[in-house]
Amino acid sequence: MSQENLHPTFDRILGRAEKEQLLQQNSKVIWMTGLSGSGKTTIAIALEQKLNEKGFLTQVLDGDNVRTGINNNLGFSVEDRTENIRRIAEVNKLFLHCGIITINCFVSPTIAIREQARAIIGASDFLEVFVNTPLEICEQRDVKGLYKKARAGEIKDFTGIDSPFEAPENPDIDVRTADISVDEAADQILQVILPQITRK
Ligand code: ADP
Repeated sequence: MSQENLHPTFDRILGRAEKEQLLQQNSKVIWMTGLSGSGKTTIAIALEQKLNEKGFLTQVLDGDNVRTGINNNLGFSVEDRTENIRRIAEVNKLFLHCGIITINCFVSPTIAIREQARAIIGASDFLEVFVNTPLEICEQRDVKGLYKKARAGEIKDFTGIDSPFEAPENPDIDVRTADISVDEAADQILQVILPQITRK
């Protein structure tokens, strides 16, 4: 007798629909792009808090939990940046199929890199959020002191200084943090995603 016949009701890995049903939510990938210090992680944390208060299960992915773990063997060469995003997108796909809403905080500086992520994840599940903060403001904030180091030549190929940032041409959400608070930014994203992640 084959394995299938032995366990007729347990013959496959449970699918996305069953997990979304269990969690009572529709999964989604929220992809935040923007300069270092633009506010991606700060807004993601505020957004995650709001979502969790409403009963949604989420996972924030950022450089801290990805580059130190699954991608700790990758640097910042063109090849490594591509591999970095490929792995991140594949991790997103796993969460997506587990019914979970992921919030990504990666500079992801080029259109090509973001298109690569969109292609792996699937366009209909991918929501692009441009954390649209002018370089001058990011540099004034200089949360991690990285701009100072980049200006001093201690860090090479730093996005916005000596490496380009290609702004999204048509983002799903454009968040202008120079004009609004962290709380308002999280609310702006929440308003757009709530109808998509709420089960009818
Ligand atoms: P990123 O993840 O994009 O590198 P961070 O979230 O680490 O950026 O840093 C953004 C910094 O800017 C934080 O110190 C945050 O408190 C500050 N900040 C000030 N105003 C805003 C705003 N309106 N939205 C987001 N962050 C803001």
